[in-house]
Amino acid sequence: MEELKRRIREEGIVLPGQVLKVDSFLNHQIDPMLSMAMGQELAHRFSDVEIDRVLTVEASGIALGLAAAYALHVPLVFAKKSQSVLMHEDAYVADVYSYTKKVKNSILVLKKFLPPDESVLIVDDFLANGEASLGMASLVHQAGSRVAGIGIAVDKAFQRGHDRLIQEGYRLESLAVIASLEGNRVHFRESI
Ligand code: 5GP
Repeated sequence: MEELKRRIREEGIVLPGQVLKVDSFLNHQIDPMLSMAMGQELAHRFSDVEIDRVLTVEASGIALGLAAAYALHVPLVFAKKSQSVLMHEDAYVADVYSYTKKVKNSILVLKKFLPPDESVLIVDDFLANGEASLGMASLVHQAGSRVAGIGIAVDKAFQRGHDRLIQEGYRLESLAVIASLEGNRVHFRESI
């Protein structure tokens, strides 16, 4: 998606540890026009499959998740992060190692918000090692539902997540695919 790539080129900052900071429009300050356009683009790319619900993870997936769910006219549910090891009887739970915070979190969704026999679109702002997406896929499977696909804003395809998701058989649609962050510059891959 050209507009997203342009904003990344103009405003993105490469931090140590292969982290791209885009907090001026994606995950601190949020550009609502760009977010809605990204949601529409994801809805368009997945228009050939049935989608009952969008699932994302707090906090930075929520804007894109809402935009996609609005475009698809379906509910959005976001997984909550919790460091508590308590069992959550009313929730589906998965363990996720956080790429940016370097801690293991549990992510959870109340069972009543993830019914069985649905087709669920997973959405997130970034894809790095695939932990968040695979954790959300686990929640969907625990619920007895199907993953319709995974929609990502910024896919750092040089890290493990991109290939992992495809190897696991998930349909991945990424709006900007990054081939490398070498030399503190963003190099895009033209197709996935
Ligand atoms: P993964 O779970 O695929 O390893 O990492 C994805 C999650 O980590 C996303 O939910 C995102 O919040 C965060 N993340 C991973 N890489 C980056 C990055 O380069 N920049 C930002 N801002 N967040 C990232």
